[in-house]
Amino acid sequence: MKNYDVLIVGAGAAGLAAACRLSRCEKLKIGVLEASERAGRKLAASGNGQGNLSNLDLDISHYHGGNLPLVQKIACNDPYGGLDILDCLFVSDGRGRIYPSGRQASALSEALYVTAEKQGAEILFNKRAAAVSRGFTVLCADGSRYSADCVVLCTGGKAQKQYFTDGSAYSLAVGLGHTLTPLFPSLVQLKTDKTHIKGLKGVRADCAVSAVVDGRTVKRAEGDVIFTDYGVSGNAVFGVSPAFASQTGVLSIEFLPGISADKIAATLERRAASGFFGENILAGIVHSAIARAVLRRAGSSPSAVAECLKNYTLEVTGTLGFDSAQVTRGGINAGEVSEKLESKLVKNLYFAGEILDVDGDCGGYNLHWAFESARAVAEDILAKYGGKV
Ligand SMILES: Cc1cc2nc3c(=O)[nH]c(=O)nc-3n(C[C@H](O)[C@H](O)[C@H](O)COP(=O)(O)OP(=O)(O)OC[C@H]3O[C@@H](n4cnc5c(N)ncnc54)[C@H](O)[C@@H]3O)c2cc1C
Repeated sequence: MKNYDVLIVGAGAAGLAAACRLSRCEKLKIGVLEASERAGRKLAASGNGQGNLSNLDLDISHYHGGNLPLVQKIACNDPYGGLDILDCLFVSDGRGRIYPSGRQASALSEALYVTAEKQGAEILFNKRAAAVSRGFTVLCADGSRYSADCVVLCTGGKAQKQYFTDGSAYSLAVGLGHTLTPLFPSLVQLKTDKTHIKGLKGVRADCAVSAVVDGRTVKRAEGDVIFTDYGVSGNAVFGVSPAFASQTGVLSIEFLPGISADKIAATLERRAASGFFGENILAGIVHSAIARAVLRRAGSSPSAVAECLKNYTLEVTGTLGFDSAQVTRGGINAGEVSEKLESKLVKNLYFAGEILDVDGDCGGYNLHWAFESARAVAEDILAKYGGKV
């Protein structure tokens, strides 16, 4: 049985970052077990392949989970904090989203992998950890066993199982006594009541959207909304979807953000007076399918039509499932770990990344958490061994 000082389980964003930091310490023997045949696959796919790695606005309201004070301490300080490991150049867009300047996430996951290996970490592929016993021994699905003084679980969540994240790896921590909080898909398309999306399938519009829960607006986002046969998708929808991860509510769509209801109504009144009628009253103002849906709902009064365009409400009945989601709400109870993410139940057992009950909004918050949590873990382990991060 091969022995390591530190065994990292999962070579995703958090596992690779931890491996790079830890393998800088020459006296440590680092092993990484990865279930798939490649490292960093989800990181490579992130941000439509461009890698939205962090965000300039690190307000704690962008994070969700059962131990937000812990998240605040680890992840709400420096937008570039955990990114030093990439030693890259970064750019931010108008919404504060931070990307690598080359906008190619796959290059970063490759660079992290190569760096960890060059520094001496052994990354073993097609090694699905099936059980971890105290001490530690890790048993893989192929029957192989590895021992280590210290184990870092970085196996991600349950979203999109094609990335080898089907949720089965939570059992590694549960087997050691940890608890799993309820799991929900987040950053995901919304299912809505179909009455008011009739005829809109395939239509895309630039909108502002708000999530209204119990009569209160709890989240707002701008971007595109894409109508589908089950409800709505698109950037703006992903932006507010965390509000609906574990509850239903109302989605309010503002079709013409930046143009007041009064200005819209005045335009429609002028048009009506000069002979526009039927759906032509909205010709060129919104897509004709949206015009039909709005007029069906609001009638012909210019002020009612303007109001409907500014607040087109849809009852949210649920979300699509884990296979469509970008992240998992819930995970291993973050109340069961120290400020450095060491288990309070099992000494020298650590967690980093999405495996914990921590999820972020759309905009780079989840990768930021993966990188910062990996840094916290590496700092603690290296302090124990007298190395530098
Ligand atoms: C399509 C898509 C786009 C995204 N875009 C963004 C974005 O732009 N910005 C952002 O912040 N977030 C984004 N996310 C979310 C982000 O990618 C994840 O939150 C992040 O990758 C989590 O990092 P992680 O290391 O915890 O887990 P992962 O990156 O999921 O890595 C987990 C690793 O563990 C391995 N593994 C699982 N089980 C086992 C086992 N039993 N034994 C051994 N290995 C195992 C897996 O194969 C995988 O390599 C996106 C997610 C998706 C799906």
